[in-house]
Amino acid sequence: MGALPVFRWRLAPDGYATRRQLRARGLRPGGQGVAAQLERPRRRREPLVAYLYRVDLAKPVRPMTPGRWAALAAANRARRTCPQCHRDAGYVIPASLGTCVPCHDTT
Ligand SMILES: [Zn+2]
Repeated sequence: MGALPVFRWRLAPDGYATRRQLRARGLRPGGQGVAAQLERPRRRREPLVAYLYRVDLAKPVRPMTPGRWAALAAANRARRTCPQCHRDAGYVIPASLGTCVPCHDTT
């Protein structure tokens, strides 16, 4: 891979964005490599470097699908389910108790 184009801080050309800037627009680099870098000179220290990605190659952040919602709901349900009475406690089982509160109180 050749040397990356280096831009001065705040002089990045249009069409490039940092990962954080992509994220703010609902985008992610999407497998592309770093396209350029920004350098902000600092006195007597290494320059501050930020990596830039091409906006035209960025992809939308993966949207939540019904399958992903279901997986998330199942994971949350599992965290609320008491391992002793197997009921949905309605709250996340506290790690300090290891069971729901009624089970903990009766043992
Ligand atoms: Zn219980």
